[in-house]
Amino acid sequence: MTSIYFGEEHESFRRTVRQFLETEVAPHAREWEEARRIPRETFRRMGDLGLLGILFPEELGGTGASIFHALAFLEELPRSLMGGFVAAVSVQQFIATGAIHLHGTREQKRRWLEPSIAGTEVGAIAISEPDTGSDVAAIRTTARRDGDTWVIDGAKTWITNGVEGDFVVVACRTDRDAGAGGLSLIVVEADTPGFSRARLRKMGWHSSDTGELTFENVRVPLGNLVGEENEGFYLIMETFVLERLVTAATSVGSCRLALEETRKYIFERQAFGRPIGKFQAIRHRLADLHAELEAAAQLVYHAAWLHEKGENPVAEACMAKLLATELSKRTADECLQFFGGFGTVEEYPIERFFRDSRFGTIVAGTSEIMREIISKAVLDGVAFPRREVDEVDEVEVAAKPAEPAETAETAEPAKTAETAENSVAGEPDAFAEFPVPPELLDADVTETLDAVFTEALLTPGPGPVPPGPTIHDAVTLVTGPISLGPSVPVPTNVAELFATLPLRFRVDRASGWSARFHFRFKDVPRSDWTVAIEDGACRTLEGHDGLADCVVTTTEKTYLAIECGQLSPETAFLLGKVKVSNIGAMTRFGRMFRKATT
Ligand SMILES: Cc1cc2nc3c(=O)[nH]c(=O)nc-3n(C[C@H](O)[C@H](O)[C@H](O)COP(=O)(O)OP(=O)(O)OC[C@H]3O[C@@H](n4cnc5c(N)ncnc54)[C@H](O)[C@@H]3O)c2cc1C
Repeated sequence: MTSIYFGEEHESFRRTVRQFLETEVAPHAREWEEARRIPRETFRRMGDLGLLGILFPEELGGTGASIFHALAFLEELPRSLMGGFVAAVSVQQFIATGAIHLHGTREQKRRWLEPSIAGTEVGAIAISEPDTGSDVAAIRTTARRDGDTWVIDGAKTWITNGVEGDFVVVACRTDRDAGAGGLSLIVVEADTPGFSRARLRKMGWHSSDTGELTFENVRVPLGNLVGEENEGFYLIMETFVLERLVTAATSVGSCRLALEETRKYIFERQAFGRPIGKFQAIRHRLADLHAELEAAAQLVYHAAWLHEKGENPVAEACMAKLLATELSKRTADECLQFFGGFGTVEEYPIERFFRDSRFGTIVAGTSEIMREIISKAVLDGVAFPRREVDEVDEVEVAAKPAEPAETAETAEPAKTAETAENSVAGEPDAFAEFPVPPELLDADVTETLDAVFTEALLTPGPGPVPPGPTIHDAVTLVTGPISLGPSVPVPTNVAELFATLPLRFRVDRASGWSARFHFRFKDVPRSDWTVAIEDGACRTLEGHDGLADCVVTTTEKTYLAIECGQLSPETAFLLGKVKVSNIGAMTRFGRMFRKATT
């Protein structure tokens, strides 16, 4: 089918991938399935061919190609004739190292990402545990600081590449009381004392090793922390869209291959004096499967296109993953039926496809979790903000030193947006990935980001904030007299909140940054506010003043919860409770202020 997404360059790349798989991988399928591992030389060979760094920048050894090159690659992967190979290679390239790529230091990229792209090292990501899979916020494996090391204790299970891999990015609990806001990603190398692993025996995906990992007093350097401490949950969520697109695209490829193999078979196999492909009962069912496959594929492409544009197609990726993996399961079942008895014997790839297709609806978020997220979007009106498509900082010269433990003065209170705590009467939270305090679930946030952004551009204020009012002036201007003593009052409404903002401003973090924010609260009469950060100071003014670098639309209740440390801003963004036109600026803004607590 002619496509608006794939041009000749993609098709030529697709042919290269197919040729490699058909000549160097598929002929070994049975051997590798029996050995329950993929030879290391194959990863190295793929690295040499440039097949393990499709989306990564050239400076790191990748090819810096588009998401549609990645999709072409993923759709071809099932031609390895092993779901296990598909899983191992997908995790290696698109899943295990995603957070290192986006948030790792230069040293971390050198140690783990570059060798993964070269195929000289194999990586894994360990989120799931024996007691929790879908409910990521309930992770129990702990990591605590001890001098210049993290000490990790706990267990992980179902980890792809977990036994054969050289390093594992481990989701650990670094704050016992903070639920989703207390997770961090820490890299553990395979030979670290106290780290042990065992292989699980599964019904399919045999060539992919799936590990049970145990951490007993495992010590790794503080510098193995990827991204910020306690931000792990959000790093995991950030990579989920791509992970789901990957699973959806490989499922599309599996369906295509199964239908091709079935087509060949039904015109060879005779019954009642003619090929079974002449029977309408079979033809119509295959016609349906082809139609459904094209629909699923187009949704995958659309979601990928949105992703590439910098949108955050959370719901579309979930829809694509749900449809493609469920279809793959059904296609395998139907096609096996058309093979009759031969469909059940190991000589025919359809038998392995039938077993392997069973995994797609479980991994990378189960179908039930996909439906939960989709229903949040389509029934509750939850919108997901655009991603910030950042230039990756490749000029960083040294490993990011681990930040010192926060002092009592700067420490933020435990976040309360816990998945587990949201559970009703012991029921698991139906929206496990996006925990939020129950009282905020009904907030009405339906405006689109584009509308807010457009409005900001079209209706500039009177220009720069004129010099004049000091911090003290601004406070007085906004609220009238308010205590400026050592303890800043906890605000109870937006007016008080903007009055206290300058008092909570961290001058030490402002160096040279100037930015202007327009806030709009949809649920209070005094709705419009400006925050200007200039010359190492913060001023707040009622009304919209000057041209905004970032427009923030939310409700009083939500913003008070964020500023008082009861709701993580990331969770609020993910849920669409806060709309921002510039996520990068807003993220930096959030770090400029102490929380408003007594
Ligand atoms: C072969 C294989 C490879 C894997 N590779 C990795 C890996 O590399 N790294 C990693 O971290 N994990 C990996 N996983 C784990 C996988 O992500 C989990 O199995 C998956 O997230 C489901 O978690 P669970 O198995 O604990 O099931 P549970 O979360 O216990 O769910 C059990 C059932 O309850 C349903 N359920 C749960 N919550 C809800 C809800 N709110 N509403 C409705 N139904 C619900 C689920 O859909 C499921 O049907 C792998 C799994 C397999 C099988």
